[in-house]
Order: sequence, then structure tokens, then C-alpha cells
Amino acid sequence: MADKNHFYYDHDKCEFVPVVYYTKKRLLHTLSFWLINGIVLASLGITLLSYNIGTPSEIALKAENRTLLDQLETTKVSIIDLESRLHTISELDNEMYRSVLGLEPISYEERMAGIGGADIYSEFDFYSEETSEILRWTASRLDNIERRLSIQKLSFDEIKTYYNENQERLSHMPAIRPVAGILLSGYGMRVHPVFKYQRMHEGLDFRADIGTEVFATGDGVVKYAGRRGTYGNLLEIDHGYGYITRYAHLSGFADGIRTGTRVDRGQMVAYSGNTGVSQGPHLHYEIRINGNSVDPLNFLFADITPEEYKMYRDIAENNPMSMD
Ligand SMILES: [Zn+2]
Repeated sequence: MADKNHFYYDHDKCEFVPVVYYTKKRLLHTLSFWLINGIVLASLGITLLSYNIGTPSEIALKAENRTLLDQLETTKVSIIDLESRLHTISELDNEMYRSVLGLEPISYEERMAGIGGADIYSEFDFYSEETSEILRWTASRLDNIERRLSIQKLSFDEIKTYYNENQERLSHMPAIRPVAGILLSGYGMRVHPVFKYQRMHEGLDFRADIGTEVFATGDGVVKYAGRRGTYGNLLEIDHGYGYITRYAHLSGFADGIRTGTRVDRGQMVAYSGNTGVSQGPHLHYEIRINGNSVDPLNFLFADITPEEYKMYRDIAENNPMSMD
């Protein structure tokens, strides 16, 4: 249609001649031009996208990697918690079980033995820095926990053997809480609540309302049951093997408790009170070995969990006042 309407003037021929358009050729040329451009641009785009974002499968893998790393971070928190709990158990093992039973404590270095040396985690260096770091951390900490647990198990096995071989002696040894109350003050230098100066507090103070039941902490024989100075009403039990326990500021004694009475561990022997020099109702509990006072906190092993031990230890260390 168009070519029929367009003419140009030919000076040589002195006439108008129709303009000839090479329609098909032009169309083809234009099409190819845009097609090639399109392909080039699309390829460029895909390359750029793949480079920056990734193919769909790569995107899925990256998401999976992120989830795995996040999960490893969560695991890290659990591992730190496990380590701290294991540490409390090993403290309890050394300070309570082993030291009281006369077994050599296992040092921190021994418990941590086997750490370091050849780099057995170098295989992780193959990965990115972030991944490699967290994989190394997790693997080494888990190995460490495993080693510490096996050392702890050996220690408990040793204690069990010792217990089986020394049952008679151990049934006499003070080993439980004398009263159900919580701890108020620990053993050591404390400000006296009445005299207001620092002096040695030779026992533990447990909170106990007047009349709370008090139990013998090991098998033994009543050595004294009566009034004694600042102690108020005092019960003293001789457990043999050099051990003596004292229960002070009592409101009274259980039926049949008098000098010479045989008592068993866990037997109700007295009632707590506020007699003698005392800041308020509580039970003052002492342990003496061959006449010398020791920290009774280390002699509660038959009925205390590691968590309770930690709590008691914190209270004993942080309260500067005693109830006396
Ligand atoms: Zn006290």
C-alpha cells in the first residue's frame, strides 16, 4: 500500500518514479537486530542474577545453610549450659564427696586433660570462615564434655567402691541436712548479729520456725542434751571416728533423747528454737572432727543436688552476717 503512494522525481528521466521499499528485507533486519539484542540482554541478566542471587536450587541451599548455622548457634547455648552444670558437679565431687571421704581431689587441669595438641579439626577449614569457626567450636567443646564426663564417671566409681568398703564408717559420718529449712548463713568469719563484730562462725545457720523437727545427721550416741551458755539448748551427738555434731538454740528434745541414747541418721532428735544468744528462730549446726570445727556444707552429700549445693555455696559465701 505504502509504496504505491510514494514517488520521487527522476531528473534524468524527467519523470516521477515510485519509491521501492525492500519491506521484507528490512523487517527481517529489524527483527534479527532486536532478537539478538534480546538474547544478549537476557543472558546478561541471567548471568548477573545467578551471580548475585543464585539459581533456584542455590537459593534453597543458601536458606538451608542459614538454618543450619542458626541451629548451631542455638546448640552453642546448650553446650555452654551443659559445661556450667558439669562444672558444678565436678566442684561438688571435689569439695564434698572426695574431700570429705579423704580421696584426692581431681584438679581442674586433670579434668580438662587431653585438650589441645594436634589440630584434629583442620578438616573444617575447607568451609567458609564462619562455618569453619562454629564447627570447630562445637566439635571441640563436645569432645571436651565427653572427656570430662568420663573422668567424672571414674570418680563416682571410685567413690562407690570406697563407700562399699567403708559402709560402717560412712553410716556414722554426718551426711544430711539436720533440718528442712533453707540456709541463712555459712561457716567462716561473720559479723555476730548481737555483738556486732567479726568472729568465727563455726557452723551453718538454717532458717527454722520454733518447733521445727531436727534430725540426727549420722548414726551415733547422744553426748550432751541440755543448756549450754550462748548455745541455749544444745544437743551434741558423738558419731565415733572423731566426728561430733552440735544442734543449738533448740526449743526442746525429742522423747527419749538424753546422754547415752543411740540415734540413727535421719532420726528426729530435737525441735529448733531461739534459745541462747540468737538473732531469731533458726538452727545452728556444727560438725567437729577430733575437736576442730569444719564446714558442714561439705557434709550434706547424702541428700543434696548439685544445684542445691551451688545455691547453698552462694548463700554461705555472700551473707556476711550470721544468726549465731
Ligand atoms: Zn550459727
